[in-house]
Amino acid sequence: MGLALLAIVGLALPAYAENLVITAARVAGDGQRTRFVADLSAPVAYTAYVLPNPYRVVVDLPDVTFNLPPGIGEKTRGLISEYRYGAVETGRSRIVIDTKGPVLIEKTFILEPQAGQPARIVVDLVQVSAQAFSKAYAAEQKNSARAVAEAAAVPPAGAIDRSTTEPVAAEPAPPPSRSSARKLIVIDPGHGGIDPGAIGANRTREKDVVLAFGLALREALLKSGDYDVIMTRSDDRFLRLDDRVKVARDNKADLFIVVHADTVRGAGVRGATIYTLSAKASDAEAEALAQKENRADIIGGMDLGAESQEVTGILIDLAQRESKKRSTIFARKAVGDMRQVTSFTGKPMRSAGFVVLKAPDVPSVLIELGYLSSRRDEAQLGSEAWRSRTAAALTRAIASYFATEVAQRGN
Ligand code: ZN
Repeated sequence: MGLALLAIVGLALPAYAENLVITAARVAGDGQRTRFVADLSAPVAYTAYVLPNPYRVVVDLPDVTFNLPPGIGEKTRGLISEYRYGAVETGRSRIVIDTKGPVLIEKTFILEPQAGQPARIVVDLVQVSAQAFSKAYAAEQKNSARAVAEAAAVPPAGAIDRSTTEPVAAEPAPPPSRSSARKLIVIDPGHGGIDPGAIGANRTREKDVVLAFGLALREALLKSGDYDVIMTRSDDRFLRLDDRVKVARDNKADLFIVVHADTVRGAGVRGATIYTLSAKASDAEAEALAQKENRADIIGGMDLGAESQEVTGILIDLAQRESKKRSTIFARKAVGDMRQVTSFTGKPMRSAGFVVLKAPDVPSVLIELGYLSSRRDEAQLGSEAWRSRTAAALTRAIASYFATEVAQRGN
């Protein structure tokens, strides 16, 4: 094959083997040519393609377990600056390889197992100029835009039917008209799958602790009997930001709670912060955090393009003004109740342009539970007792928020 942006490697084998495991991965080469190799338990069909902004190579696989040592993706060389891997929705896995500049796929192929050696995926990358990349990219988009889109949207084998009109909720959605007076809370644990989020000094992954907290919050809310709860994800999977927003909107959530636990410069800085949406960030730190979180789709390997327009193009209209007001009322209550059981940063309420908070019709907050860069916060986030205490406090804040709302409507 010549230099390529996209390569679909198929096999005349049962493409969907059980319990596929990637057991090792390595990078070899230099600044002109670099080879990425992954060892796996059986040959698979896969798709490899290159995306710009930033330059990266995506390898789409069927469901694979990654049995790799932590931090392996940071030990790279040649054209590759870093790589990440993990689940992307159900039944699909992905490797995203960040490159230091424009590259094309020189060749990619699968080696069958032989003489005691495992099966291997080999991706050979070659450095090209930005102009050469743009030319190849434009040609590819023109000639086979559909092929690229399908390759990006559909796994090469063991495909699952993913209707774009359905919410991606991991939980069964409640019936369209909710019969009871119960309020619907949508909980969105950040990151997941291929996107680990922040990583603590003791290698705690943000995606794991925010999921654990989300599940604890769901339990506390359900126990009260006053709420219906939907999780955007209740396991370790990647979700695009606009799909998260879509779960809240499609289900007409009364409240959307996004949960994160990031890192910050300075190991001594600790405590929780509650963010609401604002076109203008409340301070530089809030702005930096929003920019970091808004990059989640790139981390997952998605090509944003026109698809994110629905979210990014939403105008701050009247509906949004109303839900922003409510978001702020709820944020204030959440700080008040959570403060009884956990510490906050010096500025407990901030705002910035988080994509995930842009539902115009659903009051939404993003809670940073603490900083994984703080050893004390990291230990706390791993504590079940802390989780249930904090989830109970947040449940009290939610009750008080809806009680106020009812009182206001009664006036
Ligand atoms: Zn985060």
